[in-house]
Amino acid sequence: MRHKITPQPGILNIAPYVAGKSTAKGGNRVTKLSSNENPLGPSPLARAAFIEAAGALETYPSSDHAALRAAIAKVHGLDAERIICGAGSDEIISFLCTTYAGVGDEVLYSQYGFAMYPISAMAAGATPVQAPETDRHTDVDALLAACTERTRLVFIANPNNPTGTMISETEIARLAEGLPPQALLVLDGAYTEFVEGFNGHAGLVEARDNVVMTRTFSKIYGLGGARIGWGYGPAHVIDALNRVRGPFNVSAAALAAAEAAVQDVDYTEKCRFENAKWRGWLRDELAAIGLPSDESFANFIVPRFASPEAAAEADLYLQSKGLVVRALTGYGLPAHLRITIGDEIACRAVAATLTDFMKGARA
Ligand SMILES: *Cc1c(COP(=O)(O)O)cnc(C)c1O
Repeated sequence: MRHKITPQPGILNIAPYVAGKSTAKGGNRVTKLSSNENPLGPSPLARAAFIEAAGALETYPSSDHAALRAAIAKVHGLDAERIICGAGSDEIISFLCTTYAGVGDEVLYSQYGFAMYPISAMAAGATPVQAPETDRHTDVDALLAACTERTRLVFIANPNNPTGTMISETEIARLAEGLPPQALLVLDGAYTEFVEGFNGHAGLVEARDNVVMTRTFSKIYGLGGARIGWGYGPAHVIDALNRVRGPFNVSAAALAAAEAAVQDVDYTEKCRFENAKWRGWLRDELAAIGLPSDESFANFIVPRFASPEAAAEADLYLQSKGLVVRALTGYGLPAHLRITIGDEIACRAVAATLTDFMKGARA
């Protein structure tokens, strides 16, 4: 029998997401520095809450996520009524695309924007549109120039992944102010907590009706395996997203772990401090051996090699030493590698290995 089952238009044009590698050829003991995970793991309180949730696996989770929303609201000084929780912030990104963009609509993002923006846009039938960056920084003028009457969503991560760079709140506000009336600005705050004293432009979300932010428990909170994130926006947006959201989209264990994690502010602060310390150390070490990088505000750095070939060779050499980092060819940055800030041992191993590489060592 010949079937006539075909996906919706555009689905087969999606280039599948390539996750950070977790294995290396030949290397036995592998240090994974390819997915921006927290080397210290989650708060012990979050781990304990997750384990405790195993005692009630037969029960459906909360549908309104009230306890977690209240905890997030309290810690961050936000309105719990305008928070939505998802299975990772990827799910919030997907809700936004499903809700606001369809066939004939455009979803705008910047040149080195996160790969899930075009994937979710195309899954919704919409057309992804890239605006150029300037020296690997989000360019507000380029984004505004790329807006049309069909632009429905504009995605910006600040700090951005995979560049690690950040632009000022003044620039973000100028973008929000200049958008056409039918366009919603999405501020992806996956790396917000790595920036001391930063709340992901929450004030801008509160002051305007065309800005939402997304946040995640996968990065500084060390809960990538649990799949939980959240969004904050104007009431009209949160109401629409909640109509698309499945009633039990987040597991009970993930909710419990996240609730404990967000309240353990001392642990989060410790993670932020350690990341900043080793990020600065590694950046200086690599710059001294001829591998400069833009200032990163996130939990990774992006050293620049002399050529795409040199970056590919360095990637292989790191792999041969059990160090798995992220090649950025798919992001259009083939002369760069993205290296997650691991613990002290990992950072020292990366510096030593790249020092040998720059002296001519090869895999
Ligand atoms: C890691 C990351 C996310 C989110 O991941 P989830 O695990 O789905 O919460 C979102 N945006 C950017 C830019 C990221 O780097």
